[in-house]
Amino acid sequence: MTTTAKTESDTAAPTLIGARRLVVKIGSALLVDERTGHIRRAWLDALADDIAACRARGQEVVVVTSGAVAVGREHLGLRGRPLRLEEKQAAAATGQIRLAHAYQETLARHDVTVAQVLLTLEDTEERRRHLNGRATIDTLLRLGAVPVINENDTVATAEIRFGDNDRLAARVAQMISADTLVLLSDIDGLYTADPRKEPDAAHIPVVRELTAEIEGMAGEPPPGYSSGGMVTKIAAARIAMSGGCRMVIAKGKRMNPLAALERAPADGGALCTWFLPAAEPRTARKAWIAGHLAPHGVLIVDAGAVQALQQGKSLLPAGVTEAQGDFERGDLVVVQDAAGREIARGLCAYAAEDARRILGRRSAEIEAVLGFRGRDVMIHRDDLVMR
Ligand code: GLU
Repeated sequence: MTTTAKTESDTAAPTLIGARRLVVKIGSALLVDERTGHIRRAWLDALADDIAACRARGQEVVVVTSGAVAVGREHLGLRGRPLRLEEKQAAAATGQIRLAHAYQETLARHDVTVAQVLLTLEDTEERRRHLNGRATIDTLLRLGAVPVINENDTVATAEIRFGDNDRLAARVAQMISADTLVLLSDIDGLYTADPRKEPDAAHIPVVRELTAEIEGMAGEPPPGYSSGGMVTKIAAARIAMSGGCRMVIAKGKRMNPLAALERAPADGGALCTWFLPAAEPRTARKAWIAGHLAPHGVLIVDAGAVQALQQGKSLLPAGVTEAQGDFERGDLVVVQDAAGREIARGLCAYAAEDARRILGRRSAEIEAVLGFRGRDVMIHRDDLVMR
């Protein structure tokens, strides 16, 4: 079925119909009435009808939902001012129950079972937990349930949280090898500039590569509930595309926003922006590396090493000029050139302290310097993903 999606995206305008395993991200501003703090039930019911229609077509659906904080703050009397982190966490604890309940009720109308999954950043960054999360969600889908996922806001502390569900949804999509990610948003896709400020901004229907120009089009985050904005959506696209998953940004506030993506805009479907991955998806392991959100350190490399990496070679200690940060063997580090540009990321074969001792040395010298014989490379090419 991945083949179907690929063929479709190569020949005709992409639509939701080609999806086999679908992740749908729903933002707080869609789900929760900003004025009352209540769940917009009619909208959610219509969305549940869309989800049921996808499942009737044989598509697997996973929901990543925001709104726990927005719903919960109402019940704790925390409205009308910015919240401190611990207040947000308290609000999430109250709101998440109501959120889960609303999804359960609305999907029960279609006899669909809902399963709540709360994840932290670490659950997706640590390889074993990542694989474990994948196995659980796979099992739920096999058993016919709709996983409803949110960040585990009550325990995720400031430094180690996603904070926005755009990147969480992309990480989930990559984790479970979904082929399509839908970000339902308050904007109908990517524009050459912020359309709220520049009326001449042009809508971009399809993005095939995340160039510096595309990244530059992401403006400031919008005000209100959403913590995302275009910046996190482009970051989400990078994660999804590296996992071979297409992503679409579409306006969600209308009724039945998923049904509106069944047809291309030219055939009466909703305006949207599709991000289409290269035909050759990375291996699951490389996608996990590329989608990593919390690198532990930085290796600065010289021009010769940059060239070698671009030719698909491993990173040798000789090409490294500096190792920053505190990382263990096997941790993810970013590789930067002398100008500070990220050129790759990968799993370092040495802990920071050892890396600092062998950098600039020939591989044959490693044993003499460290007193043990480690790997010849700083990052093996199998553990390395170019930016
Ligand atoms: N996890 C947060 C919540 O449920 C939302 C994060 C976001 O705004 O994307 O309230």
